[in-house]
Amino acid sequence: MPGFESIVDQDRPKRILTTFLAKGTIPHALLFTGIVGVGKQDAAMAFAMACNCKGKDTGRFEQEDRDLSDRRKDGILIEPCGNCRPCRKILSGNHPDIIHVKPSGDYIRIAQIRTLIEILALKPYEAKRRVVIISKAQAMNPAAGNALLKMLEEPPDRTILILIAEQTADLLPTIVSRCQHIRFTPIARNSLATLLEKKKGVDGKKAKLIAGMANGSLTQALTMHRTDWILWRNWLIQASGLDQPASLVSRPAGLLLAFAEKLCVNKESLSEALEVMKSWLRDLIVCKYSADKVINADLTEKILQTSQECPLKLLLNKIGIIQTAQKDLEANANVRLTIELMMMRLAKQ
Ligand SMILES: [Zn+2]
Repeated sequence: MPGFESIVDQDRPKRILTTFLAKGTIPHALLFTGIVGVGKQDAAMAFAMACNCKGKDTGRFEQEDRDLSDRRKDGILIEPCGNCRPCRKILSGNHPDIIHVKPSGDYIRIAQIRTLIEILALKPYEAKRRVVIISKAQAMNPAAGNALLKMLEEPPDRTILILIAEQTADLLPTIVSRCQHIRFTPIARNSLATLLEKKKGVDGKKAKLIAGMANGSLTQALTMHRTDWILWRNWLIQASGLDQPASLVSRPAGLLLAFAEKLCVNKESLSEALEVMKSWLRDLIVCKYSADKVINADLTEKILQTSQECPLKLLLNKIGIIQTAQKDLEANANVRLTIELMMMRLAKQ
């Protein structure tokens, strides 16, 4: 069921949005921030649907929902029905007045914003409220950002702009100040685990494990569930030599460099791989104090055993080495060189 109810956690954003709908005072521009995969896009779609839902016309709501009058204020349904013509058109991506702007390549360019301005100069085709959803708003180059700013200063008729970004720091402050900012938080580990278990049929233990490693992101959790994440994690721990951190020092340089090379092949999974390696080292530390707090819970026995051979200082050093590599990568250092250096250092200290 699409709509606000399908969004996991995010009680505060949902409350703010439904209050706008209930009161009928909808700002011209909204800004949703939060990490990838916490429901920002779904909330934008639910909001677009709620602004245009004609649920009553389908009859469905009247039969199923006795509280319709509570849900409908000023002609707007707070929870969209997902079934009426506008809702279905929005869901299938065929509504002419729900406009999506996404980066083309790395950037959202000024030409895209100019086209948008031309469209918005016309009246909406059929929507009560036209909704423009700008995904990855941080990808707007300065020229595009300034063009958008002009539009925010003179908002078009019957139109709501929803900007989606990871954090406000990535946007022009003048844009942020003209939007109603709604912050989406990472999803609680328990909520993610429950969702994986109940909706995706994931076995309870595995669901907990994935939820613990997904950093509060539903998208990440689902990707981990789809791909054979556990096998990949096992390979990472073993091939990096971190399954025996204390013996890493005797590992031949050739093996260390071969692993570094493999790690660099897939740049997209590299940052996650580093997080996984850190989580393993973290578990080796945490289990010394409280074994039930380990993230890689399916490996608890091995963690307890390995941890005994590893002094705390050695483990902390290794985490520090991975963190240094992460910082260097963020600062655009050469990927291959950084990872090779990281592996050599991991084996040294
Ligand atoms: Zn509807």
